[in-house]
Amino acid sequence: MRVPIIAGNWKMHKTVAESVDFVKKIRDQLPPAEQLETALAGPTLSLVSMKEAAAGSPLKIAAENCYYKNEGAYTGETSPYALYQAGIHHVILGHSERRKYFHETDEIVNKKIKAALADHLCPIVCCDDTMGRRTAGKKVHWVVNQILYDAKGLSSDEIRHVTIAYEPSWAIGTGQSADPDEAEEGCYLIRQTVAYMYGNDVANDVRILYGGSVTTSNINALMSSQDIDGVLVGGASLDPETFLKLVNH
Ligand code: PEP
Repeated sequence: MRVPIIAGNWKMHKTVAESVDFVKKIRDQLPPAEQLETALAGPTLSLVSMKEAAAGSPLKIAAENCYYKNEGAYTGETSPYALYQAGIHHVILGHSERRKYFHETDEIVNKKIKAALADHLCPIVCCDDTMGRRTAGKKVHWVVNQILYDAKGLSSDEIRHVTIAYEPSWAIGTGQSADPDEAEEGCYLIRQTVAYMYGNDVANDVRILYGGSVTTSNINALMSSQDIDGVLVGGASLDPETFLKLVNH
C-alpha cells in the first residue's frame, strides 16, 4: 500500500524565524504519518531549526537539494551525510529550477540520488516536462528518458525509497495546473517506465507525485487519480492555513 504524501517546497522563501513559526503553527494539526505523510522542504539555513520545531510531530523536514559527495573542497554545497545526521528525512533532487538555472543534468541528478540513498535520505526526484501540453510523442520520449537516466544503476530496493514527482515546467508557478487527466497520464508514464526497468511489483511500490500549481481547488481531483500518490506544492505551501487545507483536503 502506497502511503500518500503532501510535500511543500518553499524554494528560496522564508527566514529561519518565519520557517520555525510556520512549523509551530501546523505541527499539531497533521494526520498520523501512516495515514498521510507530510513533508516540508525549506531553505538549507532553516532546516535544523525546522527539525527541532517539528520534533514529536509527524512532519518530516526535507532539503531542497544536496551534493553528491559527503565532504570535501566543494564550497557552498550541502552534504547528504550532514543532512541525515541533522535528522532530515527527504531531499528534493532534479527540480526543474535546478536543471534550468543551475544546469543540473540527468548525470548529476543520478549521482545525487545515489549519494542521498547511501546516506539514508529519501529522494523526491523531479521529472520535469518541458514539452508543453499535448505533444504526445515528444513528451513520452522526454519523460521516459529522464527516468531511465536518473534512475540508472539503482537496485530494486533503492528505487523503492525514491519518490518521483511529475512536474511539467509549464505548470510550475504559472497558475496553470495540468488537468487531472494530463497529470495522471504523466504519472502513469513514469510508473510504466519504472515497471519496464524493475517489474510491476516494484513499480506498484514507488510513490509518484504530481507538482505544478496545486491549490486547494484542484487537489481533490488530482489526488483521486489512480497513479497520483500525492502532490509537491510550491506557492500554495507558503501559507500555513493553506498548507493545512491541502493536507486535510
Ligand atoms: C514546485 O516548485 O515544485 C511547484 C510545484 O511549484 P508550484 O506549486 O508553485 O507550481
